Amino acid sequence: MCGAIRYEAEGEPKLVVHCHCSSCRRHTGAPVATLVIFVEEQVKFTKGKRKFYESSLGVRRAFCGDCGTSLTWEAPSNRFQDTNIIDLHISTFDRPEDFVPTQHDFYEERIPWFDVVDRLPRFVGDRELPICHGPGVRAG
Ligand SMILES: [Zn+2]
Repeated sequence: MCGAIRYEAEGEPKLVVHCHCSSCRRHTGAPVATLVIFVEEQVKFTKGKRKFYESSLGVRRAFCGDCGTSLTWEAPSNRFQDTNIIDLHISTFDRPEDFVPTQHDFYEERIPWFDVVDRLPRFVGDRELPICHGPGVRAG
């Protein structure tokens, strides 16, 4: 928000997801967080130093120490083996519209009144186990 921290991400992201986990909610103050997932090497912080909070063992969440903007989720990846990944909060990009989410993660943790009506697959956690699909789409 204040511009003290800037980054550049290069190439295609691994994935773009809506995350409904309670940690993302607490980190952002929002009912759902949309994340653009890159391999660590694709992301370069070009200005400022981010502050970190370890939200669970081995998982660091970064924010701006000046204005408090939520910036990242950073950890070794479960779904992309042997890589450290950086999830960037989509609204910190200059052009968030360049990225289109393709799934809902941690759908089981969503706030019940959050009525998602898109047709993207819903995942339990971040695992490849779609528990249901949006309206009008058959499972399987
Ligand atoms: Zn999350």
